[in-house]
Amino acid sequence: MTKRIVADEMAMRELGSELARLWKAGTLVLLIGELGAGKTTLVRGVLEGLGHVGAVRSPTFNLIQTYATDPPVMHADLYRLQAATGLGLEEYLDDHLCLIEWPDRLGDAFDLSEAVTVQIDFEGEGRLVHL
Ligand code: ADP
Ligand code: MG
Repeated sequence: MTKRIVADEMAMRELGSELARLWKAGTLVLLIGELGAGKTTLVRGVLEGLGHVGAVRSPTFNLIQTYATDPPVMHADLYRLQAATGLGLEEYLDDHLCLIEWPDRLGDAFDLSEAVTVQIDFEGEGRLVHL
């Protein structure tokens, strides 16, 4: 577990790009933090690091967004759900880098023992990220 002070949005995107080099298809990343913590911003950085050009929208309404990067990315935001059963998330777990906001909604239908957790806390004007 390491902690990083991340001062602003740009630094958060840079951290995402850096982490993208460590993560592979099949990596499941659980993004923990309050609304506005910077979870989606980190995902933008991951996608920038993988060379994605174009928008990265928060999947608050469509829940799942995929990107044909290498590795392909699945970004989910489960905030609006009570439970994530029936969404078909498991289809992506083997061959996508999966980044999930509000993973507490996953319940116990998923094996999270191999998952990577990134926790983002507010820290003054910036954020404290636990990796
Ligand atoms: P979440 O997905 O966790 O709800 P967002 O990624 O949408 O949060 O970010 C919310 C706001 O926080 C955005 O305005 C973004 O620019 C800002 N932000 C992201 N990371 C940081 C940071 N490290 N320091 C300060 N502001 C940040
Ligand atoms: Mg978000």
